[in-house]
Amino acid sequence: MRKSVLVGLIGTGIQASRSPAMHMQEGDAQGLSYLYKLIDLTVLGLGPAHLPELLVSAERLGFDGLNITHPCKQAVLQYLDELSPDAKALGAVNTVVLRDGKRVGHNTDWFGFAEGFRRGLPGAALDRVVQFGAGGAGSAVAHAALTLGVRELTLIDTDMDRAAAVAARIGGGRIGGGWIGGGRIVVGNDPAKALAAADGVINATPLGMDAHPGMAFPAALLRPALWVAEVVYFPLETQLLRAARAAGCHTVDGGGMAVFQAVEAFRLFSGVPPDAERMRRHFLSMG
Ligand code: NAD
Repeated sequence: MRKSVLVGLIGTGIQASRSPAMHMQEGDAQGLSYLYKLIDLTVLGLGPAHLPELLVSAERLGFDGLNITHPCKQAVLQYLDELSPDAKALGAVNTVVLRDGKRVGHNTDWFGFAEGFRRGLPGAALDRVVQFGAGGAGSAVAHAALTLGVRELTLIDTDMDRAAAVAARIGGGRIGGGWIGGGRIVVGNDPAKALAAADGVINATPLGMDAHPGMAFPAALLRPALWVAEVVYFPLETQLLRAARAAGCHTVDGGGMAVFQAVEAFRLFSGVPPDAERMRRHFLSMG
């Protein structure tokens, strides 16, 4: 009999998620009986307060794990038995493994960005990088940037307190005085100045989504030597990426982060190493 894997995704408004298709197709290809269910809080009329009940139900029904998305990535922390070092550093969980009566929280979002970046922009200069957006995705991306070896990350968010808090958490440094996180993350508020000295720029704001058109900074600040990494993946081709290509920049889209967070979650749930390229091709084929 084929080994079975039962997992799900908890979050609000997740009907368009590509995770079920990505996981189940790879499961099939690996000879697993792999079922990935959407547990959509919007459809169920539930909220983060129902997490304890949903976790107990999943355990009783024999789930092997759960992906967790907005608005539950922080809320779920208090109901877990253990956290991976990355989940602890980020204070956010997107993958819970349910095994031997224990709930272990992981964060594969940062790995998703890092792996997508490594493959999309191999050999990119990492001395000075500017990142716009310090929300949920931004926090994972900042962790990925430091892990990739960025020497100085300038974090710009319209909410400067948010940027400062992320810098302090990810870098473990003090808030105040400008330099934060062992000197590797600095909170910025002057995009023109920061971009003029940068090797690359990352968009981790929602700008570029259909619901949030636009860019976080003027296209005139782009130049060919600046690489551009995007986190938005609905749509894959954003205004920023179009402007960056027109300006001659090397670019990487937000698809890599979406695919490789799923690749790592698949491995954690099933114990089987997935074929990352196959999952990526499948993701792209979904349009
Ligand atoms: P969020 O609301 O938690 O954070 C967004 C942050 O951007 C906020 O702190 C906001 O103040 C800041 N911001 C908005 N406009 C700005 C501007 N002009 N300049 C500077 N900062 C600005 O959102 P999130 O959950 O972090 O998601 C951000 C985007 O990342 C969304 O489009 C989401 O779809 C995408 N995302 C992609 C992946 C992926 O796998 N590729 C994963 C998670 C999120």
